[in-house]
Amino acid sequence: VPSTSALAALAERLPPGALTTDPEDLLERSTDWSPLAFLRGLRAEPGEELPAAVAFPSSTEDVAAVLAWANETGSVVVPRGGGSGVCGGAEASTGSVVLDLTRMDRVLNVDEESRVVHVEAGVRGDRLEATLAERGLTVGHYPQSIALSTVGGWIAASSAGQASAGCGSIEDLVLGVTAVLPGGSIIRLRPVPRSAAGPDLRRLLIGSEGRFGVVTQAFLSCTSLPGAYVWDAFGFDTFDLCMAWMRAVVAARIGPAVVRAYDEVDSTLAFGTIGHTGGCAAIIGFDTNLPAVDERRRAAAEAARETDGKALGPSYGTHWWDHRNDSVDLYRRIMGAERAFGSGVVVDTMEVAGLWRDLPELYRAVRGALSRRADAVSCHLSHAYPSGSSLYFTFLIRASDDHEAERTYLAAWKEAVRACHAGGGTMTHHHGVGRLKAGFLREELGDGGLEMLRAIGEALDPAGILNPGALIPSRSDRHPPLV
Ligand SMILES: Cc1cc2nc3c(=O)[nH]c(=O)nc-3n(C[C@H](O)[C@H](O)[C@H](O)COP(=O)(O)OP(=O)(O)OC[C@H]3O[C@@H](n4cnc5c(N)ncnc54)[C@H](O)[C@@H]3O)c2cc1C
Repeated sequence: VPSTSALAALAERLPPGALTTDPEDLLERSTDWSPLAFLRGLRAEPGEELPAAVAFPSSTEDVAAVLAWANETGSVVVPRGGGSGVCGGAEASTGSVVLDLTRMDRVLNVDEESRVVHVEAGVRGDRLEATLAERGLTVGHYPQSIALSTVGGWIAASSAGQASAGCGSIEDLVLGVTAVLPGGSIIRLRPVPRSAAGPDLRRLLIGSEGRFGVVTQAFLSCTSLPGAYVWDAFGFDTFDLCMAWMRAVVAARIGPAVVRAYDEVDSTLAFGTIGHTGGCAAIIGFDTNLPAVDERRRAAAEAARETDGKALGPSYGTHWWDHRNDSVDLYRRIMGAERAFGSGVVVDTMEVAGLWRDLPELYRAVRGALSRRADAVSCHLSHAYPSGSSLYFTFLIRASDDHEAERTYLAAWKEAVRACHAGGGTMTHHHGVGRLKAGFLREELGDGGLEMLRAIGEALDPAGILNPGALIPSRSDRHPPLV
């Protein structure tokens, strides 16, 4: 825990008002949106396990000053964007200094010729998109949490948006990055479409969860803002057929902006209010400005015919689009103070990924593991590739009280990750590892993979000041993994 005089010295290195020890500020920025953070927050005593201070840098140089100070004083720094992560990545340990990037929220430049936007890392997704929309552009990165999350958080947590089929995920969009390394030095990776100058250091920062550096600026590629979307939907008797349709659509290279396939439970959750009564539904949406949209739609319908799908009409797609971010509020109502489903109820999502060959079995294995602990489990595919897809599970645990719910929840994660790995999948497609899944990283990467990541972390951050305990499991007991 940094002493009062150490904190005073830090305040002197920053602009006036950039450091706070106000308990409300500390509490508000001590956790993220993970279910455990909500559960533990609800029963926390005031003053328990709080960071020592929150720093609000206004520039890359301010960030460098904080990290240099942390090295001198041996203090832990936890970078934070919007705090919308769901795996405990931005959870601040007692006595740490939270580095809140949200005052670095400027859109610095829009290069309309190259279609590149240069931003500070703390800009939120909705504001970025509003700025670009004025020029008919979009980054096309639309996570459900777009109004809560920041560009720096997208990069650090390896995020994927709802239009990944058309625009790619964050690794496809990041062209250049400015970051401060744990020692306080600044690296500026120039914005270029591709480079063969060694391993891609931008890629090393993507998914690094605040362990290898603090992202302060980024250059992101943009595309034309779609004029409108045209939607089709298809119904299937089984999820296997629904998945087979999605695989065929990707193989046909028809360029949808959005394509999603739901299992029966998720179909009812997503489309029950518009009359969906059974079976699995899938939707596909095209930007109407694309050439030959009718041919593309015909190819999607042809793929549906070959996989025994029946047309369901455009209302499924428009309904999804209109309600695509509703679950943000629902999740907050269930897990926040309102406890809309009562105490003892925990809702979470698990987004695994695997090859098409493995996907049907992977679905059954993870679903089976979650179902042993959860009252309800549903799943959809929303990020598909030529070789495979993500499987996004939502699960609800109901227990006698929140303590029991937490134990069941942790057991569910452990068993589901084991089932995922046994089925050949990765335990996370886009939510990252955080503190929740750090204990599984050895299983995920193998001994060699984990040691490689550790070696990089230790070389960059020998003093262990940057976000210890997130992503890479700690060698000591000081920051034990949650599971
Ligand atoms: C309801 C809901 C829906 C969601 N939907 C999606 C979705 O569709 N797609 C998706 O990908 N994710 C989704 N998420 C998860 C989350 O929004 C993403 O992981 C997002 O990228 C986090 O951004 P953030 O700015 O909130 O980061 P934070 O939560 O603040 O931080 C996430 C991690 O990144 C680190 N970090 C943050 N900023 C920086 C920085 N500038 N430099 C270095 N490290 C940093 C933190 O230390 C932490 O480890 C959802 C979350 C919720 C609650």
